[in-house]
Amino acid sequence: MSSQRRSSEAPRGFTIVGGGLGGALMAITLGRDGYDVDLYERRGDPRSGKVDAGRSINLAISVRGIEALRGVGLAEEVLKRAVAMRGRMIHGVSGDVVYQPYGVHPDQAINSVSRKDLNVTLIEAARAMPNVRVHFDHKCVGVDLETGRARFHRGTDGESVETAPGVVIGSDGAFSAVRAAMQRLDRFDYSQSYLAHGYKELSIPPGADGRHRIERNALHIWPRKSFMMIALPNIDGSFTCTLFWAHEGENSAAAVRTDDEVRRFFDRVFPDAVPLMPTLTEDFRNNPNPSLVTIRCRPWHYRDKVVLLGDAAHAVVPFYGQGANCAFEDCPALRDCLRGSPKDLGVAFAEYERRRKRHADALADLAIGNFLEMRDKTGSRVFLMKKKGEKLLHRLLGDAYLPLYSMVSFSTIAYADAVERARRQNRRLGAAAAAVVLLLIVLLLAAA
Ligand SMILES: Cc1cc2nc3c(=O)[nH]c(=O)nc-3n(C[C@H](O)[C@H](O)[C@H](O)COP(=O)(O)OP(=O)(O)OC[C@H]3O[C@@H](n4cnc5c(N)ncnc54)[C@H](O)[C@@H]3O)c2cc1C
Repeated sequence: MSSQRRSSEAPRGFTIVGGGLGGALMAITLGRDGYDVDLYERRGDPRSGKVDAGRSINLAISVRGIEALRGVGLAEEVLKRAVAMRGRMIHGVSGDVVYQPYGVHPDQAINSVSRKDLNVTLIEAARAMPNVRVHFDHKCVGVDLETGRARFHRGTDGESVETAPGVVIGSDGAFSAVRAAMQRLDRFDYSQSYLAHGYKELSIPPGADGRHRIERNALHIWPRKSFMMIALPNIDGSFTCTLFWAHEGENSAAAVRTDDEVRRFFDRVFPDAVPLMPTLTEDFRNNPNPSLVTIRCRPWHYRDKVVLLGDAAHAVVPFYGQGANCAFEDCPALRDCLRGSPKDLGVAFAEYERRRKRHADALADLAIGNFLEMRDKTGSRVFLMKKKGEKLLHRLLGDAYLPLYSMVSFSTIAYADAVERARRQNRRLGAAAAAVVLLLIVLLLAAA
């Protein structure tokens, strides 16, 4: 049933726990390298149609994610069912709308895709491989780190299932059962930090003609300082809106509960969205208000037996739209390390962690920073001017000046390197500006 480990030889197979985005892509990636893969997923088959309430319905996939998908031949298939978002559409309280292109080039876009469709595409590709087996309705309840055996409860009949000794990849998300086993180890570092904000998913259905009722190729933002709503387009003409707001306090989930309160709140803060949202109060009642968490841990592996990937290793808040992209990037990174050290997985896993950990940490910080930027600053004139200035500098200086957002969303420059490069650029700009001011002062003094 599961992966077998032959001592002093390369392992023949892997047990992957979690068939979400990262786990499914990893299964394909390893399958293509000839390994036997058993992928275990707690939920039922995503093709059955049921979508978990409380998980984002759609997400933005950018260059990094696309490159990882391209590596397994799936990029075009995913992009066929994506809506390109080429900029932010900012909605003011008075109904004014301002468009800010994301990139310098019109073809630079992030892509709104359905989480379920993406997952189904990956699962189908995995299942099509003769050496990959997918087991739905298997909830991991423990891992023996010394032997690499994983234990599951089978949802269909409640049966306990245990894999043979092997190698386990934990891609079971932010509240990973695989990581939970590692958390009991001596000197395992772990931190989780919740935002004061949660999120509520709402929707804008298609217009009577079946088309999008607001600009299709944009990510819409209603920034309101301490909270904000965003809307991502779907291919069926609808938008999925997400209201990010505090759990408690003014303008929060605790303060706005009844249908009347919801209507009054929306009329006051998102008046232009209200006519577009006929199911507002119903969506509000039906959808949960999940929390947002950042998780960091170290090490990401236990000897040559267990390794973590995606949110299980590094969950980030969603404001840079990069969590899934980062999980996707983990897959070719882990594959490359396995190729580099196929017979000593301890070395391969340590190298994978060395390559990825600091970038995941950098993304965690970027994601929190972008929350503040999206909700507090995107509506301000200064922000607009700053973005225009960044683009102008890029036009003038070419690759010598790349805006941080472009490096993160439109390149595969590793996250921490992008942050460092942005700092260097800003230092140089600061120095150049200081030199110009100094020169002006000298010229003025000379002329006086
Ligand atoms: C509101 C919101 C919006 C987001 N938007 C974006 C975005 O626009 N762009 C982006 O790149 N990222 C986005 N993300 C982040 C993205 O969803 C995650 O980073 C990504 O899903 C991580 O993939 P993963 O495979 O590591 O984890 P998951 O996708 O969470 O998959 C984990 C899988 O493991 C399964 N599982 C869990 N426990 C067990 C168990 N005990 N046994 C067996 N299986 C188990 C789960 O059912 C699930 O299928 C968003 C997240 C949120 C919350």
